[in-house]
Amino acid sequence: NPLHGAQFVLAAHRVNQLPPDLGAEVAFAGRSNAGKSSALNALAGHKGLARTSKTPGRTQQMVAFALPPLAQGEGVPPLTARLIDLPGYGYAKVPEELRAHWKQEIDAYLHHRQSLRGVVLIADIRHPLKEFDRMMLDFCFATGLPCHLLLTKADKLSRNQAAQALAAMRKSFPDGLHATAQVFSSPAGTGVDEARARVAELLRT
Ligand code: GDP
Repeated sequence: NPLHGAQFVLAAHRVNQLPPDLGAEVAFAGRSNAGKSSALNALAGHKGLARTSKTPGRTQQMVAFALPPLAQGEGVPPLTARLIDLPGYGYAKVPEELRAHWKQEIDAYLHHRQSLRGVVLIADIRHPLKEFDRMMLDFCFATGLPCHLLLTKADKLSRNQAAQALAAMRKSFPDGLHATAQVFSSPAGTGVDEARARVAELLRT
């Protein structure tokens, strides 16, 4: 597991408080309560890494996790790698001012972060994409960043329903958006290996 050994580095309110913009990083985004913390924990294989919460909408921060350096093949030095947990909002209880702050910070981060290789967007497989998700896809479209969509909570659907939801989602991606999607479930472990492989692939691009 290339994401094993992820460690908390810092939490930031602004992009300029993040670790130095070197090496490679992948950002995780999702509306609050989508299941982003659970997904991060499942991917890292570390239950307490990201804080899961049943009280969505609390004040959030950008959180940086360091990964063990990624081997890149013979003669190439290992790559400094990070995961960045972006604040989720879009659910109830986040004041408009705070939403505007995060929208601006996320926009700036996606446009200017040199080490950013891609975005993992986490969304509940049972619901259509919401305003926050579409905003993330628009940012990815605008910046050319690859986006990997984790359709999570798949354990709430039958296998068939989940496959249908995935197919419908893939069809709805606009032409020119560099997006991939998969089914995911944190408690069932569905799609964990696939997602780890995709994140590692993004980090190495
Ligand atoms: P975050 O706000 O996006 O970080 O979401 P959390 O990871 O804290 O999860 C929000 C709620 O959804 C919690 O009650 C989790 O237990 C639940 N949850 C997260 N992922 C899954 C999943 O894959 N399946 C199910 N059934 N519940 C999940």
